[in-house]
Amino acid sequence: MIDRAIPYGKQSIDQKDIDAVVNVLKSDFLTQGPAVSDFEKAFAKYIGAKFAIAVSNGTAALHLSALALGVSEGDKVITTPITFAASANCIRYAGGEVVFADIDPESYLIDLNEVKKLLSESPKGTFKGIIPVDFAGRAVNMESLREIADQYGCWIIEDACHAPGGWFTDSKGIKQFCGNGNFADLAIFSFHPVKHIASGEGGMITTNDEELYNKLLVLRTHGITKDANLLEENHGGWYYEMQQLGYNYRLSDIQAALGASQLRKADEGLQRRRKIAKRYNQAFKEVSQIKGQSGYVEGHAYHLFIIEVEDRLGLYNFLRKNGVFAQVHYIPVHLMPYYKQLGWKKGDMRFAENYYSQCLSLPMYPSLSDEEQEFVINCIFDFFA
Ligand SMILES: *Cc1c(COP(=O)(O)O)cnc(C)c1O
Repeated sequence: MIDRAIPYGKQSIDQKDIDAVVNVLKSDFLTQGPAVSDFEKAFAKYIGAKFAIAVSNGTAALHLSALALGVSEGDKVITTPITFAASANCIRYAGGEVVFADIDPESYLIDLNEVKKLLSESPKGTFKGIIPVDFAGRAVNMESLREIADQYGCWIIEDACHAPGGWFTDSKGIKQFCGNGNFADLAIFSFHPVKHIASGEGGMITTNDEELYNKLLVLRTHGITKDANLLEENHGGWYYEMQQLGYNYRLSDIQAALGASQLRKADEGLQRRRKIAKRYNQAFKEVSQIKGQSGYVEGHAYHLFIIEVEDRLGLYNFLRKNGVFAQVHYIPVHLMPYYKQLGWKKGDMRFAENYYSQCLSLPMYPSLSDEEQEFVINCIFDFFA
């Protein structure tokens, strides 16, 4: 037995993180101070995008992205059913309609052929945009998706919550990092503690598009601007105008300082995640009861390591009994009561539903020790034996 429970994901906080937060607490600004823009600059650099806008969480990042791209009543947008509900909900916030496209059963990512099929079977202009998800940390081929999107005049919001540091190789052999803005209009990230970089709550939007960047800055803070070039009138130094309906989706300096400190060791954490993935992949390669797995894929950021097994409930309960808290990612979004009430039903997404019936996410986080991982692997072998 191992002496403490092993979760599927967990943050790693060290003394440097604590010092960074304490420094902000002792400074003049708890929010709207310099820590936010420092974090934004460092994050944009890490991801390889021109601009980054910090927001209060990943869901706020999705909501603002939908607003900045002009999603409105009745607009149709395509996304995957195997994601966290927020990827789809942001379209509903803006009054749009969500259309799900099934996954590829090998990569677990949205199937680009399904996207193409949806787009080609409707009159041009039916769909406004696509929200692909770099699910589990595996990069969607954004170059191929951009090509498809351009044919139909669609924008792309890349939900890269699972994939800071993830990449795919483009047709010229160049590594394209998730969220770098070379193909997607906007990309979004989350700093919830189970994700790669923890800030408690927090999110980021990245883009190479300056116009969208400026729109997002205003939407993030109530639709208010103080930019003299944009004001309708000017009454003096105090003057500002609320020009559109925005929100307070700001990140505090306390959170930003923690995020920036975490970012400094993001690469180290990513290397460790890849090492853990390699070990799982090796251990399970020849196990006939494991019908599918995340495997070892170049460029994968391994937010999650997933295996597919027939008796998923049995394995889940067996692991729990041994202190290993595996999880299921995700219950297909189209089968949530909210989306069923909008007309979606069981049978609509064959591959997503089959995947859901047998998927299990194993412990995957940088501080998972070799010993703990061996324990998890041995528990799984014991279950099959
Ligand atoms: C975590 C997550 C979100 C939402 O992020 P929050 O910061 O929790 O609001 C959105 N999409 C995906 C794929 C996520 O994993």
